[in-house]
This record gives sequence, C-alpha cells and structure tokens, in this order.
Amino acid sequence: METELLNGSSKNYASKKLNKTQQKVKIAIAQGDGIGPEIMDVTLKILKAAGANIEPNFIELGEQVYLSGNTSGISTKAWDIIGDAKIILKAPVTTPQGKGYKSLNVTLRKSLGLFANVRPVNALHPFVKTNFPDMDVVIIRENEEDLYAGIEHQQTDDVVQCLKLITRPGCERIVRYTFEYARAFGRKKVTCMVKDNIMKLTDGLFHKVFLEIAAEYPDIINESQIIDIGAAHLAAHPERYDVIVTSNLYGDIISDIAAEIGGSVGMAGSANIGKNIAMFEAIHGSAPDIAGQNVANPSGLLNAAINMLAYIGQTEVADKVKNAWLSTLEAGHHTADIYDNKFSIKKLSTSEFAEAIIERL
Ligand code: NAD
Repeated sequence: METELLNGSSKNYASKKLNKTQQKVKIAIAQGDGIGPEIMDVTLKILKAAGANIEPNFIELGEQVYLSGNTSGISTKAWDIIGDAKIILKAPVTTPQGKGYKSLNVTLRKSLGLFANVRPVNALHPFVKTNFPDMDVVIIRENEEDLYAGIEHQQTDDVVQCLKLITRPGCERIVRYTFEYARAFGRKKVTCMVKDNIMKLTDGLFHKVFLEIAAEYPDIINESQIIDIGAAHLAAHPERYDVIVTSNLYGDIISDIAAEIGGSVGMAGSANIGKNIAMFEAIHGSAPDIAGQNVANPSGLLNAAINMLAYIGQTEVADKVKNAWLSTLEAGHHTADIYDNKFSIKKLSTSEFAEAIIERL
C-alpha cells in the first residue's frame, strides 16, 4: 500500500519512518489564532526541553492573513515552507464568518492530499474524570471528500446547495488505510459508520467499498452501523468501539463527541496523513471564548506533537514527552477544562501545566 503508517508502536502513532540522522528535522509551524499562539508556545517549549531534534519554521496563516485581503488565509511564502518541510504542526485557526473566506483547514487538507485524519481518544482513568474508564477508540476520518469538499452553490436567493462528493478511489484509500492501521496497531475491530439507508449512492458507495476491503482482512472483525445510532452508542458505550472509519463530516462530529466524553475536547490530537506529507493538530478549534487568558489545555496540540515526533522517527523523545504529560495528569495537576474536585489536586494555567510537564521530563 502507498501509505506509510508506522513503525509498529502500540501507541496509536501514525508514524512514517525512522530518522536516525542527527540532522534537525524541519517543521512548518503555524501558531494559529485564539488560543493557538498560547498552546503552540508551551508545546514548543516542552519539545525543546525534551530534546526534540527539530527546526521550527514559522508560517503565516489564519485570521491575520485573511483580514489582510488574502481570502485563502495562507501566504505564498507559507506554501513554500510547507513544500520544503513536508511536516506541519498547526495550532487551530479562526475562519472569519462571511462569504469569500475559504476554510484554511479544507484548503490545506485538499491541496496537500491529506486524505486520512486519525483521531485517537482514550480515557485516562482514574486520573482524569470520565464516565467511561475503558474507552480507547481511534476515529479515522476521510479528510478530502464529502460535504467538506467545499463545493457550495447559491441557486437562488432562497436556495443554496452543498455537494456531497464521494469517490471510489477516496473510499478505497481511507478504508484500506484504516484496516492497515488496525493491523499495525493490534486493533481487533473496525466499525464503519455511514447513513446509507438514506444516501444510498454516496454513503452506499462508502459502505460497499468498506465491505469489499473488509473481506481482505479476515483477522479483523468488521461491523457497520448507521451513523445516527452509531453516534448515540458511541456516546453511551464508547468502550465497545475500537477503530471507527467514516466520512469527513460524520468523523468530525463523532471525534469531538468522543474527545469530550473522554475528558475534554482540549485533550485530543490528530494526524492528517498524506502520501509524503503530514500535518499534526489538536482536534479542537481556536476557542476565542478563552483566548489570551492562559487557561487553555495544551494537551490536544501536545498529543499531536508527540505523534509528529514518532512520525519523524524521534520515538524516544515522543515517549519521554508522553510519559511526562501522563505523570503530570496522574499527579492531579490539571487545567481548568478537566479540573474536578475529586480527581484533581491543583488547577493550573496553560503555562504552569507546561512547566509541570517540563519538570517531569
Ligand atoms: P472550539 O473547539 O474552538 O471551542 C469549543 C469549546 O471548547 C469552547 O468552549 C472552548 O473554550 C473549549 N475548548 C476548545 N479547546 C480547548 C482547550 N484546548 N482547552 C480548554 N477548552 C477548550 O470550537 P468553536 O468555538 O466552534 O470554534 C472556534 C473557531 O475555531 C471557529 O472559527 C472555527 O472555525 C475554528 N475551528 C478551527 C479548527 C482548526 O483549525 N482545526 C477546528 C475547529 C474549529
């Protein structure tokens, strides 16, 4: 298969290759908007303290670029840096409301061919409050097609249309990636979630391809669920799921649900995987409601960065950061979003949480 996945680690790393050289690995860094710069700043401090062998190359994208009149939200120079580095660590960006502004996330995913969005979510019981202590699910979302392809039309003043685009090659790529991922990481079951009882052609194709490819992986259990009841079951019994593969919009929604019931939407990181390029980011948005207050949880971006380190072959540093992060949570040192009287000892700001992690490296 064309996709590079991993090096057999059991930690949900979407890792690509081992880089044994001492050369610093260039990373395109997007600081983002809202809480973006705060969580990126502390993430980079933690990576530096852990000895990550990376060379950050900062790129301009997001709100300021949009507001300067560039409706794509990304500068030409940023594209050049991305093309050179091929690895991006990105904080969330704000897409300004209104016509004409293209979603930067959609642009990046489509332009760079980042077809798979891998979102692992697991409970950290008994250290972080959750009602689902056994939850350990990976949601793999198709990342380029579906209603997020960005094909919208104004038919008349009162009628608007959004095209749901699903292709056989797109389905084959994401479903095969998912089964390969499951096999590589010792996962037992893949669940397909679509709505093919209503959208018989589009979701029907996704489901058909799922069943075809599932037959090639007899070692992995496959099951299919209609997305609405699947989402309800995921919210009620997340521990019953192992790996879920679904289309773009559904995957976006159910991964937020999964992260929230796992503790907080601020905890989960994601990897956007393409053929020779990858982008790592938190699953959440720019959280303008708490921006500039030094209270955001940087864990989602940090988890994305840990995954990135594994992807570039710096697995020892990845493990070191992950262990320091886990032991900080275990000590009950929590940011406000996961703070709970029963489970937490200290409520920390973003920067204090980062310092607590650095102390444990
Ligand atoms: P959001 O994820 O930014 O925030 C939802 C809620 O979760 C808010 O109450 C916020 O305070 C909280 N939250 C999110 N991350 C947190 C963290 N790390 N720590 C603590 N609390 C956290 O969703 P939204 O408000 O719907 O979107 C805000 C902006 O983000 C929008 O402009 C949207 O387009 C953008 N967005 C960007 C991305 C991305 O860049 N990948 C993804 C989703 C949304």
